[in-house]
Amino acid sequence: MKYAVAVDIGATQTRVALGNEEGEILEIEVFPTRSFSNPDQYLEHIARLAKTFTQKHNVDIVGIGVGSPGPIDMEKGEVIKSVNLPFQRLEIVRVLKNLTGKKIAFTNDAVTAAVGEKFFGAGRGHRNLVYVTISTGIGGGVYVDDTLLLGKQGNAHEIGHIVVDSNEEITCGCGKKGHWEAYCSGTGIPKYAKLLSKRHPDLWNQSILRDKETLAAKDIFDAYRNSDSFARLVIQGVKRYNAYGFAAITNAYDPEIITIGGSVALNNSDILLANIEKEVENYTVNTVPKIILTPLGDKIGIMGALALGLGKEPKVPLR
Ligand SMILES: [Zn+2]
Repeated sequence: MKYAVAVDIGATQTRVALGNEEGEILEIEVFPTRSFSNPDQYLEHIARLAKTFTQKHNVDIVGIGVGSPGPIDMEKGEVIKSVNLPFQRLEIVRVLKNLTGKKIAFTNDAVTAAVGEKFFGAGRGHRNLVYVTISTGIGGGVYVDDTLLLGKQGNAHEIGHIVVDSNEEITCGCGKKGHWEAYCSGTGIPKYAKLLSKRHPDLWNQSILRDKETLAAKDIFDAYRNSDSFARLVIQGVKRYNAYGFAAITNAYDPEIITIGGSVALNNSDILLANIEKEVENYTVNTVPKIILTPLGDKIGIMGALALGLGKEPKVPLR
């Protein structure tokens, strides 16, 4: 049996796990990423956990797989100028390799999740697959003809920044306008609601959301479930923009299957995935793929990192 250590770096939490080639997680520890402000101490903690896990189970590992929010420099093996992490720069490959003596495979979090889907999830048996995460932002990873697509800097598939609104009314976190993420991510949905509240003051004035001091995506989904007319208007728009996004993906990559994860999707799949394939069909020239929630849930990042640590993905090799 082959084993690997998996590291899933998130803006909020970091997960470190020991797993095997059958996709079993033997040990996992989750800690707040922001409990460290020094990048070296943070990586030392990860290396310590890796050692503790392997000693406890008395196993040797093939390597360590790491997925992290970008932007990344894949060649140097580091996170650069990250806005979502407490570190400006994180030299993952060089430092972790020094600390553990093990080989490291590293790429961005959305691509890592796609690798997880391909080797341990709904992507098994599919040569063409797109994974989309809808959480704080929107991102994705893509396999075409069994090949993981990376792009010139390893930051390919910034699908959250597909333009869905040609009137460009909302500014995205990236500074540009009209992007999918600016309307449909966890941070985007409240911005979109604010825009609609000005356009439809009649509905807004009758909405239960009006009394909220700050509006979160969760409030809007809750109000939708309570038949709030304004929330219905917002969610209808979000679903239409999602259909534009999935249609653009379908037209560009022609996948057999699109799987969806991320907290916004996982918590509201009953609403967001209802009738989605029919809506997408309005905007596609390619046949509409199966669009499903990832069966790996919020474990998809750690499963992808495990596959990377086992050396399963040749485009993101252990080194
Ligand atoms: Zn953007």
